[in-house]
Amino acid sequence: MKDLLVIGAGPAGLMAAYTAAKNGLSVILVEMKKDITNITRACSAQFVLDDGYEGEKLEVRDGKLIFTRNGFDVPYAGEIIPIIHNYMISPKGHRVVFEYEDLRPTALKFDKGELLRGMLDMCMGAGVDVRLNTMALNGEDKGGSGVTVKVRNADGEYEIASKKLVIAEGVNCKLTERFGLNEGRAYFGRPLICNYTVTGTTGIPHNSWIQYYGDVYHPFTEIMVGESTECEDALEITVGGINDMKPDMFYEKLVNDSPLSENLKDARIIKKTGCSVKSYLSLETPYKGNVLSIGDGAGHIEVINQGAIMCGYHAGNAVFGELNGERGFEAYTEWWNGAFVFNCEDKVGQLKTYGAINIKQALADDEIDYVFALLEGKSYCGHFDQYEVPRNFWSEVLKHSERIENERPELYDKLAGIRELQRTGFIKVGR
Ligand SMILES: Cc1cc2nc3c(=O)[nH]c(=O)nc-3n(C[C@H](O)[C@H](O)[C@H](O)COP(=O)(O)OP(=O)(O)OC[C@H]3O[C@@H](n4cnc5c(N)ncnc54)[C@H](O)[C@@H]3O)c2cc1C
Repeated sequence: MKDLLVIGAGPAGLMAAYTAAKNGLSVILVEMKKDITNITRACSAQFVLDDGYEGEKLEVRDGKLIFTRNGFDVPYAGEIIPIIHNYMISPKGHRVVFEYEDLRPTALKFDKGELLRGMLDMCMGAGVDVRLNTMALNGEDKGGSGVTVKVRNADGEYEIASKKLVIAEGVNCKLTERFGLNEGRAYFGRPLICNYTVTGTTGIPHNSWIQYYGDVYHPFTEIMVGESTECEDALEITVGGINDMKPDMFYEKLVNDSPLSENLKDARIIKKTGCSVKSYLSLETPYKGNVLSIGDGAGHIEVINQGAIMCGYHAGNAVFGELNGERGFEAYTEWWNGAFVFNCEDKVGQLKTYGAINIKQALADDEIDYVFALLEGKSYCGHFDQYEVPRNFWSEVLKHSERIENERPELYDKLAGIRELQRTGFIKVGR
C-alpha cells in the first residue's frame, strides 16, 4: 500500500504529491488528462502580487515562484507579462483606474502550461508515480486500513490502495462529494465561462486587466480582457454564460453589436478554452477520516494558481504529519482557514464582495456611467485581489454618497445593499 494517493495534477495536486514525496512518502498521482500542459480549461493565468494576498507575498524571479512567507519555491521558466493597469469601463467609456503610482505591476500574466510542465518534472524527479490518462471514479475510506480508489485508464479499471488520499480535482469537486465532504455545503449554481484568445484587435490597451460593464456588453456579467502569452498582439477575452445561454452568443454580440465592435472588427480567435464552475461555499473542515480535499475543490470558486500551490505544499506536509503521529490535517485546516478570505466567519457576507459585487446586477447602464464618471480622472489603489478591488471601488463610490443622494435619489436607494456591506465592515470608507 502506498502512503498517499493524490487525485488531480493541477497546481494543487502536483505540489501535494511533490511535497509528500520530498518528505520521503511513497506517492501515486492520478490525472485524467493525457497532457496537463495542454490547457483546455479557461484560466486567465495571472499571479497576484498584492502583499499579504492569501497570506503570502509572491515573488517571481530567477526562474522561480518564491513564496516568501510560506518559505518554499517552485520552478517557473515560462513567459511573464506585467499587468500594470486594472481598468473598469462603463457603457459610455468612463474609466475607473486601479494602479500603483510608480506603475509597478499589480499582477503577472503567466503561461500555465509551462508552470504545470515545470511542476510535473519536479514530481517525476522526486519519484512520484505519475499516472496520466487515468481517471479516479469513486472510492472508500476504510478507516484504519486506509483508502481505496477505483480508477480507469485506457486498459480498463483497477483499484489503488493508500494510507491517505488528497483530492485535488478542481472546482467541480465530484470526489469531494463522493467521499462525503460536501455534506451540508451551500451551492449557488454553475456559471459557464469561455476564454477567447484573439489577435487583430485595435485600441485595447495591453499590460492591463480590463472589465467592461453594462448591458451593452453583456446582460448579466462583465466582460474581461487581459493579456495573452500566445503571441505579441494577442489578448484574452473572457465571457460568461449560464445554462443554454452559452458564452459564444455573447461573444458574437460583443463583436457585432457593442461599443467594442470597432476594436474587434478584425479580431481572429486563435484559441478558445472554456469551463463550467460549480460555485460552493468553501469547506470549513476540508478533511474527513483519511481524506483531505484541497485547492479549488474545497474553496469558493477559485483559490487561484498560487493559492493552489500553497494548498499542495501544506497538504503534502499535513499527510507526512498524519503518518508520523501528528494532527497534520488539523494543522492544514488551521492554515486553510487563515489564508483565504472566503474562509472568514461570515462566508456569505464575504461572497458579496467577490468579483464585481453586483455592479452589473444592481445598476442600469446609465447608472454605471454616472457612478464610473464620479471616479474618473484619478488612479486608485493598485491591489489586484478579486475581493479587495471591489471593496476599494465601492469604498470610493460611497465617498460620494451625499452627492448621489441629492442628484440620483433612486440610485442612492439601490445602493442600500452596498451601504449595508459598509455597515457590516466588509467595505471601509475613508481610507
Ligand atoms: C475564468 C477563470 C479565470 C481564472 N483566472 C485566474 C487567474 O488569473 N490567475 C490564477 O492564478 N487563477 C485563475 N483562475 C483559477 C485557477 O484556474 C484555479 O484556481 C487553479 O487552477 C486551481 O488549481 P487546482 O489544482 O485546485 O485545480 P485544477 O487546476 O482545476 O486541477 C484539477 C486537476 O484534476 C484533474 N481531475 C479532476 N477530476 C479528476 C478525476 N476524477 N480523476 C483524475 N483527475 C481529475 C483535472 O483534469 C485537473 O488537471 C481562473 C479560473 C477561471 C475559471
